[in-house]
Amino acid sequence: MALKGKVALVTGSTSGIGLGIARALAAQGADVMLNGFGDAGQIEALRAGMEKEFSVKVAYDGADLSTGAGVAGLVKAAQDKLGGVDVLVNNAGIQFTAAVQDFPDERWDAIIALNLSAVFHGMKAAIPGMKAKGWGRIINIASAHGLVASANKVAYVAAKHGVLGATKVAALELANSGVTVNAICPGWVLTPLVQKQIEDRAKANGTSVDAEKVKLLSEKQPMHKFTTPEHLGALTVFLCSDAAETMTGVAHSMDGGWVAQ
Ligand code: NAD
Repeated sequence: MALKGKVALVTGSTSGIGLGIARALAAQGADVMLNGFGDAGQIEALRAGMEKEFSVKVAYDGADLSTGAGVAGLVKAAQDKLGGVDVLVNNAGIQFTAAVQDFPDERWDAIIALNLSAVFHGMKAAIPGMKAKGWGRIINIASAHGLVASANKVAYVAAKHGVLGATKVAALELANSGVTVNAICPGWVLTPLVQKQIEDRAKANGTSVDAEKVKLLSEKQPMHKFTTPEHLGALTVFLCSDAAETMTGVAHSMDGGWVAQ
């Protein structure tokens, strides 16, 4: 229960990686603020279920993080409802694929707003409270696409490269404050975000979803295995530990060897 007495805010935690990370932090005793979209009844069941399973406080706020005001409001809600933000995991993200020349302006703006600007707004809102306490952990969920590119993902790749830049700047500024700032760069994780890409590819290529899963992995990863939300939760818990107190400004890959090539 290394995180007993701490509060963790995990953005985009009603699904996928964010949910895996929120559960891992709660399992270590942290009170958790959940955020993200979805069916109200299912989210309430998730929130209440986590409270019971881990004996911690779990709150939920459905703020839309595509505006700075939305992000600042979410940080304030965590402070008001749970007493602060000691661990901030900037995880919410979306994807869209098209060639640069065909990429809709509106999709570019939406991806930059959520995948990049929300990370800036979240750090900006949470840092003063962390500095005042002399302890904090900021973990930004970037991607292998923060380090290397793939065709047809201009906004996502640009945003994720930007997340790594913002992570390094904040890490330098906070180096002697007790607050560390790191990024995690997952390879393929089988979440709704990736499931949709696989289904789109199966439709476009006239193949099966299972065949496209294997193709997707083998195109990018030497290891033909998905990283899981539980793996990423465990890495996040490690980054929150005392053992990681001098790890800051780093992009931690967990990607089946993707960027080793
Ligand atoms: P997901 O689609 O399963 O979950 C995304 C979460 O963000 C959901 O809770 C959703 O409700 C929330 N969300 C979406 N728009 C929002 C908004 N405007 N405001 C607030 N919340 C919003 O996706 P995931 O695969 O779990 O991805 C999580 C993060 O991990 C993203 O930043 C993604 O880029 C990154 N990532 C994913 C993979 C992968 O293979 N799945 C790989 C590398 C990085």
